[in-house]
Amino acid sequence: MKPVIYVTRKVPEDVLQSYRALFNIRMWEETEQPVPRSVLLREISQADGLLCMLTESIDQECLAAAKNLKVVANMAVGYDNVNVEAAHERGIVVTNTPDVLTETTADLTFALLSATARRIVEASDYIRNGNWTNWSPYLLAGSDIHGKTIGIAGLGKIGEAVARRAKGFGMSILYHNRSRKEKAEQELGAVYKGFTEMLQESDFVVSLVPLTDETAAMFDETAFQNMKSSAIFINVSRGGTMDEEALLQALTTQRIRAAGLDVFAEEPISPEHPLLGLQNVVCLPHIGSASETARTKMLELCLTNLNAVLHGQEPLTPVP
Ligand code: NAP
Repeated sequence: MKPVIYVTRKVPEDVLQSYRALFNIRMWEETEQPVPRSVLLREISQADGLLCMLTESIDQECLAAAKNLKVVANMAVGYDNVNVEAAHERGIVVTNTPDVLTETTADLTFALLSATARRIVEASDYIRNGNWTNWSPYLLAGSDIHGKTIGIAGLGKIGEAVARRAKGFGMSILYHNRSRKEKAEQELGAVYKGFTEMLQESDFVVSLVPLTDETAAMFDETAFQNMKSSAIFINVSRGGTMDEEALLQALTTQRIRAAGLDVFAEEPISPEHPLLGLQNVVCLPHIGSASETARTKMLELCLTNLNAVLHGQEPLTPVP
């Protein structure tokens, strides 16, 4: 009997095709809507493997319902939506999708940084709304990027890829991790700083830390107070790393200049979300790794990991 895998979102058939000989694949047939919790609980009770998205909370209740489950393949590098400890206690392997999305997410991070600094979205809306009647010297004047200082919280795989792009823009690079990365320091000229020091000295502050108990709301009122008044804050990690109320306050009082956000505490946000009401904020719907190539590679990596574990081998990218 082929092992049963449950896929929590409709994914392209050409990606699944070659795995149909290996698995009995069951799937939630909607592209846009996440699987309802009741359906997930029912399906997980029969599955040997799960291919899930960051929209599913794979918590104690879910894992308790999973009688045969051997592996959870999360289609994301972040795995804050999975209770990894509880999974491991039950002997369930958890995998994620590092590396294959690194450069794509770094591209988006830099695009968001540029869009925010140079007011690209605002400028595009300016024309669409019929406001472009003249040219003037300071019309939509933004912040320079070249020659400025970028401070990266979380100089990991994506952080380093962002730093490489920043180097190409002639930026100075500061970073803060729990541990120093001497190779990156040598190769990129990145300078290690304490968190507060990095905030104080950076023109752009970029969050690329995973969401953990330690990093939850690390960008709080104090953090925004420590930034320059000209600072631009970019968050492409997880919404939970920032205190949204404190960010809103920092932006409305011009404590900091602007923010570019790909992630939010509660996703999706509604059009009434207060951050959307601010002109100095660029918001994106969590599209960091959303290139067709990266998304296909992420799915393929999930399937490779499921195949490995369900056929008694080591997965390529287990979560420790
Ligand atoms: P990674 O290689 O594991 O890098 C994470 C970095 O964060 C490491 O350098 C780590 O260094 C640092 N870090 C961890 N805990 C920290 C703490 N408490 N304080 C300071 N630094 C800390 O991961 P990655 O592949 O670069 O991905 C980073 C995150 O980006 C993911 O976890 C995910 O949440 C997010 N992401 C978002 C999107 C999107 O679509 N928006 C796409 C991909 C990834 P130390 O261990 O030395 O502290």
